[in-house]
Amino acid sequence: MFNIVLFGPPGAGKGTQSQRLIEKYDLVHLSTGDVFRDNIKNQTELGKLAKSYMDAGRLVPDEVTIDMLRSEVTKYSAPKGFIFDGFPRTNAQAKALDVFLASLNTEIKLMLALEVTEDELKMRLLNRAEVSGRPDDANISVIENRIAVYNRETAPVKAYYEDKNKYIAIDGIGSIDEITHRLFASIDQVI
Ligand code: ADP
Repeated sequence: MFNIVLFGPPGAGKGTQSQRLIEKYDLVHLSTGDVFRDNIKNQTELGKLAKSYMDAGRLVPDEVTIDMLRSEVTKYSAPKGFIFDGFPRTNAQAKALDVFLASLNTEIKLMLALEVTEDELKMRLLNRAEVSGRPDDANISVIENRIAVYNRETAPVKAYYEDKNKYIAIDGIGSIDEITHRLFASIDQVI
């Protein structure tokens, strides 16, 4: 399996670029945010729990997120690989992911990190609010909280993959196509 973590702050373009990557490399896109939103829509117990955290721009607790991720991955039989989008978001999640993938005889090949300035992120998220209907995009103080949580809890995950020589930074400013080609070029060097 060829597994990638697509990393970056909220609004960096992970979801958009994931769609391009799964088409080109025939991978499964696994976005923890999307899975939580599906659960909210279907009013599951997991959805009810996740909603309170998401609406405040906080992280859903690790145990809940890790359990959910494991059960999502095992839904697929013999995939070519996964693009993990929005996961891992803490060092504990990164460690749990390694242990879990090792139990499946596979691993993360690389982390591609989209780099975007904070001003650009805020602008993108506020614009997205007009079409996404996401409550966590509609409010500037929730957006600021998500960025703060990212800087405090998620940005350190970068070092976890840097230590393993798996980290690649990608300039996330430019047209969608330009960024896609930067991602393709990095993947093609490893695949
Ligand atoms: P964005 O990257 O735009 O913030 P996501 O759709 O990835 O959006 O995530 C939305 C929300 O879902 C997060 O703010 C958080 O509350 C929750 N969430 C998603 N992934 C995780 C995760 N790996 N760990 C904890 N919470 C998560």
